[in-house]
Amino acid sequence: MAPISAEPEEFEYIVIGGGSGGSGTARRAAGWYGKKTLLIENGLSGGCCVNVGCVPKKITWNFASMAEALRDSVHYGFATPSNIAFDFASFKAKRDAHIEGLNRIYERNWSREGISLIHGTAKFTSRKTLSVILQDGSSTRTFKSEHICIATGGYPIVPGDIPGSEHGITNEGFFAIEELPKKIAVVGAGYIAVEMAGMLNAVGVEVHMFIRGETFLRTFDPMIQKTMTERYESVGVKIHRGYTGFEKIELVKAGGKGEEKVLRLVGKDLEGREMIVNELLWAVGRRPETESLHLEDIGVEKDAKGYVLVDKFQNTRVKGIYALGDVTGQLELTPVAIAAGRHLSNRLFGPPHLSQSYLPYENIPTVVFAHPEIGTIGLTEPQAISKYGTEKIKTYHTKFTNMFYTIFPDEEKKGNPTEFKIVCEGDEERVVGLHLLGLGVGEMLQGFAVAVKMGARKKDFDATVAIHPTSAEEVVTMT
Ligand code: FAD
Ligand code: NDP
Repeated sequence: MAPISAEPEEFEYIVIGGGSGGSGTARRAAGWYGKKTLLIENGLSGGCCVNVGCVPKKITWNFASMAEALRDSVHYGFATPSNIAFDFASFKAKRDAHIEGLNRIYERNWSREGISLIHGTAKFTSRKTLSVILQDGSSTRTFKSEHICIATGGYPIVPGDIPGSEHGITNEGFFAIEELPKKIAVVGAGYIAVEMAGMLNAVGVEVHMFIRGETFLRTFDPMIQKTMTERYESVGVKIHRGYTGFEKIELVKAGGKGEEKVLRLVGKDLEGREMIVNELLWAVGRRPETESLHLEDIGVEKDAKGYVLVDKFQNTRVKGIYALGDVTGQLELTPVAIAAGRHLSNRLFGPPHLSQSYLPYENIPTVVFAHPEIGTIGLTEPQAISKYGTEKIKTYHTKFTNMFYTIFPDEEKKGNPTEFKIVCEGDEERVVGLHLLGLGVGEMLQGFAVAVKMGARKKDFDATVAIHPTSAEEVVTMT
């Protein structure tokens, strides 16, 4: 058994989890306010976003977009071969190397700012003390602080009730794939399912999406749900609606070097009751990572799904213990976790005028890196109606062909929609929702998000001179 250090070492601030949120709050506390800070991380530095989330995802999205652009280039007169060859292994090696570089950059930044880093798994032994089993197994150390922040993120759900579900992969396995499967089943209808299905389809994988409803992205505006689901079908993604679960999943061949993995999916929702695929991706949501922390012992409360309950200041129910990021289930996005972390450190350790600092969770922009992208901020039309009443809501809508596709054959033009919706409230027509779908909207949304955040009205959009020729100009010329 590993020896336990005698006296707990004291820090002014302890952060559990070196992902987006943990790094954000620790750096602000140590780097800006000079607090003696300890960061405890039991995985790869940078957490989900850097290692198995946003970063490898966006690089893979670029890879897939490149394949689309090469295919599209034929319409601009380029002699593009019908079957574009690519070297996935070399792409993956470069992506992995970039991420390893980021791991080192994270640790260098922490070290430069005077943050002490411990690689190990933390658990509470009292409200002010933690014990940490070091990752190398050499010992257990104890630490104490008046201020402890839980930023332990989450992990992907794998359905426990389907025999053989362990033969599928999650986002973690997705980024470990060495060779692209020929045919994949993607179960889920949210961000991850839509992003990964889109990327795989763009590089020639046969993609079967299993969704419970009629459309995917059911928490988004109905315009987005409908057009994106149709768009995916039109570019060859096979959508299996009304999914209620497979009966079982059998591993026919484990796969490996030079051999394809083969899975047999069995269930009533499948035509002919079974389907053979080369991979299965579970993208049915995530759960908060709290089990290792022993929160019950110290009175930190969780909701029914296990998310740590916090107030608007990220305080848990226990004085001196805070939580932020995915572990709280409040908009699971990297910039949200970072912002919440910085606000918390400003409040705890900053100057008096920041003593009430907190992150408001309204009007946070988000992009789904689908093919094409989706950008959204604020309320969907149904949310706005339910909040303000039908008579108070006016919407503006446009659907058009981006100029990029103007010289494409008619059929392809139709298959590449761009669609925008502005949701306005009251006589002043304050913009309370903006929903964008199309080429480039991921970059387009950020600027408009500033306007929405500032309380812009439709007439402020209208008063802004358009930039021509762009598709963004449609946002300020809608009638
Ligand atoms: P994490 O980044 O998960 O960090 C938590 C850390 O705590 C982990 O490193 C973990 O190892 C550590 N830890 C856990 N328990 C312990 C313990 N007991 N002791 C010590 N350490 C512990 N967001 C975006 O904004 N844009 C995107 O494009 C985007 N794409 C995504 C794509 C995918 C596939 C996924 C899965 C997520 C994506 N996200 C995206 C979401 C984003 O990654 C998360 O919201 C963000 O990483 C949450 O940060 P966090 O600090 O709360 O948790
Ligand atoms: P999401 O919550 O976005 O989506 C999961 C979806 O899966 C649900 O909406 C649900 O859709 C469906 N689902 C749930 N249970 C089942 C089931 N048993 N069988 C079939 N389908 C099921 O989770 P993700 O895992 O996709 O992503 C987690 C979070 O990470 C996101 O919410 C987002 O905050 C973040 N993220 C952000 C990204 C970005 O910013 N670009 C990219 C990736 C992730 P339905 O109810 O319609 O069936």
